[in-house]
Amino acid sequence: MSVDSMKQFITQGDFDYIFDAPMCDYTTLKIGGKADILVQPRSIEELTLIISKAKENNIDTFFIGNGSNLLVRDKGIRGIVIKFGANFAKTTVEGEIITAQSGISLSKLACICADNGLSGFEFAAGIPGSLGGGIVMNAGAYKGELKDVVFSVTALTESGEIKTFNEDELDFSYRHSCFSHTNMLVLEAKLRLEKGNKAEIKAKIAELAQKRRTTQPLEYPSAGSAFKRPMDGFAAAMIDSCGLKGCTVGGAQISQKHAGFLINYQNATANDVTKLLHHVQEVVFSKYGTMLEPEIITIGEE
Ligand SMILES: Cc1cc2nc3c(=O)[nH]c(=O)nc-3n(C[C@H](O)[C@H](O)[C@H](O)COP(=O)(O)OP(=O)(O)OC[C@H]3O[C@@H](n4cnc5c(N)ncnc54)[C@H](O)[C@@H]3O)c2cc1C
Repeated sequence: MSVDSMKQFITQGDFDYIFDAPMCDYTTLKIGGKADILVQPRSIEELTLIISKAKENNIDTFFIGNGSNLLVRDKGIRGIVIKFGANFAKTTVEGEIITAQSGISLSKLACICADNGLSGFEFAAGIPGSLGGGIVMNAGAYKGELKDVVFSVTALTESGEIKTFNEDELDFSYRHSCFSHTNMLVLEAKLRLEKGNKAEIKAKIAELAQKRRTTQPLEYPSAGSAFKRPMDGFAAAMIDSCGLKGCTVGGAQISQKHAGFLINYQNATANDVTKLLHHVQEVVFSKYGTMLEPEIITIGEE
């Protein structure tokens, strides 16, 4: 089956889809060529149907959440992008345990926690990703990480089995989980929080949001920190000390406000971003002997 016949299969079903989807609309960097097909599943049944059809016919599948840690190349994506978002975002609250589907945004989940007087998730309110993407990356900020609250994850394994991973199996570490660099799909997670005071939780969220606005270039499209924290220091401090703030390639720039952020300053292409990432790596390596590892994940046709 070619992409065209996959498109025909999708048209005949009742899917939420878009053909030739401009990936700049689905990534916070606002960059990227078109994906042949983008589907936003509403149920596990829809999801497994799409995946098995694609597998059967050798069509590549890519999974995304809110696209806030992604660089999509300029030629776009050949195959199917499966996006987890508002269609896949049910939550239930039972005492101090929240069960949530992977498409819910971390900010929405933080609001649900606050509204239910549950504390421990305030740190994640300003991370612009989905719960699924957050778990894959073990996202974290302000001394909190997803690993502190997530104790069970249900995922679709590469062999098509639905499996629940408990705390010991999640293998969380800095920006890593057992789902990183695999084709497993995070479907749902359970989070354990603590009873707290609603007003205090909301005040903490507002305080952290203010901190982000002051220190991060939120006025420009970006994918957050461009590089992971190296063993021997902080990426932003190293980049800054190399005089790279404001360094520009095409429309991509190292933020003047925060050297850890690479921003889409003016109509940047993925190629501009890649060149700038390499340039920063080279300059930092020649000064410190440290090869910075990109935190941004690059996908799409070269
Ligand atoms: C302004 C800004 C600030 C940021 N601040 C922070 C911060 O403080 N801390 C931090 O850790 N990050 C931060 N980030 C980066 C980003 O928000 C996080 O890495 C986030 O967890 C990514 O989630 P996502 O849903 O956007 O994932 P995506 O970018 O869509 O995907 C990231 C990876 O996860 C995979 N993936 C996504 N969903 C699933 C799923 N359901 N199942 C399996 N795989 C999946 C994708 O295939 C991809 O490999 C920031 C980004 C921006 C733009």
